[in-house]
Amino acid sequence: MKRRSWLARAASLPFVGLAGCEAKRPPAYGGEWVGAQHERGHRLRDGGRTLAEPTVHKRAGVIIVGAGIAGLSCARKLALAGIDDVHVFDLEDGAGGNSRAHRMGGMACPLGAHYLPVPGDDAVELVGLLESLGLRRTEGGRAVWDERHLCHSPQERLFIDGHWHDGLLPPIAALPESQRDATLAQYRRFAELVSLAGPSGSFALPTARAAWTPALQALDGVSFARWLDDQGITAPPLRWYLDYCCRDDYGAGAAQVSAWAGLHYFASRHGFHAPGDDARAHDDGVLTWPEGNAWLAQRLATPLTGRLHDGCVALALEEGRHEVTLDLWNAKAQRTERWTAAHAVLAMPLFIATRVLRTPPAALQPAVAAMRYAPWLVANLQLSDALDDQPGAPPSWDNVLYGSSTLGYVDAMHQATRPYPGPTVLTAYWALGGDNEAQLIAQRKRLLDQPWQAWSQAVLQTLVEAHPDLPDKLARIDLMRYGHAMSIPLPGVRGSTALAALASGGGRVQFAHADLSGYSVFEEAFFHGNEAARRIAAAFKQRQ
Ligand SMILES: Cc1cc2nc3c(=O)[nH]c(=O)nc-3n(C[C@H](O)[C@H](O)[C@H](O)COP(=O)(O)OP(=O)(O)OC[C@H]3O[C@@H](n4cnc5c(N)ncnc54)[C@H](O)[C@@H]3O)c2cc1C
Repeated sequence: MKRRSWLARAASLPFVGLAGCEAKRPPAYGGEWVGAQHERGHRLRDGGRTLAEPTVHKRAGVIIVGAGIAGLSCARKLALAGIDDVHVFDLEDGAGGNSRAHRMGGMACPLGAHYLPVPGDDAVELVGLLESLGLRRTEGGRAVWDERHLCHSPQERLFIDGHWHDGLLPPIAALPESQRDATLAQYRRFAELVSLAGPSGSFALPTARAAWTPALQALDGVSFARWLDDQGITAPPLRWYLDYCCRDDYGAGAAQVSAWAGLHYFASRHGFHAPGDDARAHDDGVLTWPEGNAWLAQRLATPLTGRLHDGCVALALEEGRHEVTLDLWNAKAQRTERWTAAHAVLAMPLFIATRVLRTPPAALQPAVAAMRYAPWLVANLQLSDALDDQPGAPPSWDNVLYGSSTLGYVDAMHQATRPYPGPTVLTAYWALGGDNEAQLIAQRKRLLDQPWQAWSQAVLQTLVEAHPDLPDKLARIDLMRYGHAMSIPLPGVRGSTALAALASGGGRVQFAHADLSGYSVFEEAFFHGNEAARRIAAAFKQRQ
């Protein structure tokens, strides 16, 4: 479809502008905001001052606040060390945090995180988890993955000028003649820069396993956009792609994240491969499920039956000489509870930990002051039928629109083995961290202020370019908004000594959250959960 006819089509859609214009007619599809219990979070904002004295007093060996990947991984590792008197609390209904699931029309779909790249050898503990879940086994010294959980082909495609192309890197042949030679040269140059920057071990995952060198420190000191300018990497297609990658993993563009983060995206995983580079074909394995990483979260949570308390907002944590005391609001029982334990783990974002901890360690305030959190919107679109397709690459798991500031969508039914296309759920992602702090603040305000109608219309309008039949097949759009989804790896954050101090723990209160790495992925959350558990297990052993 030509751009002009798409615009005509979009204009005919019922529209409630983000500026707040009146709807011409109500949308033909339903939907609502889902997934976040904002009023529970507000209890924390007033510091629990309006709450009555606790009427229920309970004891535990370890309390973990936050049932995201870090908190759940911590509980698993403690269980492996033989410590079972562990209770986990979360303010939401259900475990998983940013890795929770949703359902529409009987189909599972993600509310947040949706994939885990096949880990490398540095991620020893993660490999252990995946083996225990039956996803991986070792045969004759080689890793063998259960193919049902690896992303099926075709994996990714990019929509340019009415045509779908295989992969997400803009193909040279799809570019205007005038851009082709320069862009190909820069693809090759950037591939070279990635391999030069990442000598073995520099960009290990988890990041704590990488040696922190002066070269990495220098990369951490400048924005990725600035570093790319300095290297002469200016070709618009490559810059769009690199910006897309930053928004996809870090929630903000190349102008905000550090050059360390920009390179880490490639060097820690599968590198960057210019067209014609043979290494590409066999390197891009990712694990994914219809419900995204909630598949993993649910399996981490299952052994906690009776010890996972959802709907519980931690309000105040006091660290004493011999024990810790947690006051929380139990929303289900409508009462205040006081829990005491030998150890506590704060597996929650650090900016929330500043509100919960009565006597925070010296490093917490400077660490949080240097951090910025990206807002995100996740839209799940339930379709009554498969979409018609445009020419080119076939429907894929990840489908992205070239030039767009949104991140495209994944198809929740992609992993299904049904032999025909049919009803599905598309999960569209918008990272709203922007290019600078002012944009970030404005986008968060817009995200929180504008109604569901405005956002669902905005999502629809970006996708209709590639899918003109989408409005006719759309049954429902459920939206999840994250005001503070993830820490953006701004320049200086990775090398922050305050963050390093919090990550190394001490005392009866441990921190465990992806924030400790300055950015958020499954691998980092899992690592910090395991590390907190390791330190607590060592303290238990010492006392025996
Ligand atoms: C939209 C989106 C897409 C993503 N996609 C991916 C992806 O595809 N792959 C990937 O690896 N990563 C992805 N991520 C990153 C994701 O954040 C991490 O993978 C991981 O889930 C983070 O886990 P965590 O435990 O560190 O933090 P969180 O998920 O933030 O967990 C913290 C938990 O603490 C709870 N909590 C907070 N305050 C309180 C309180 N006062 N009392 C009780 N509980 C509290 C929260 O409810 C939450 O459950 C994505 C993130 C987002 C937002």
